[in-house]
Amino acid sequence: MKCTRCCGLMIVDHLLDMQESYLPMWMRALRCLTCGNIVDPLIHYHRTARRVRRATRLALKLTKRVVRPVEAA
Ligand SMILES: [Zn+2]
Repeated sequence: MKCTRCCGLMIVDHLLDMQESYLPMWMRALRCLTCGNIVDPLIHYHRTARRVRRATRLALKLTKRVVRPVEAA
C-alpha cells in the first residue's frame, strides 16, 4: 500500500495507545517508512466514510442535472 501523503511504502506496525484508553492498548496500524504517516483502523474508517459521502453527493448532483430537450430547427 502507498502512503496518501508521499506515495511512500506503508508497513504494518504495532502502536501503543496510552492517551485515548483507560488501559494502554496495542493496536495495529499502517505507518509510512518515508514520512511517518500513520493510518489506524479508525482513521481509515473515517476517510472511507467521507469518500462514500462525497461520491453519493456527486451521484445525486449528476442525477438531478436538468437535461434540456434539443430544440427542433
Ligand atoms: Zn508517507
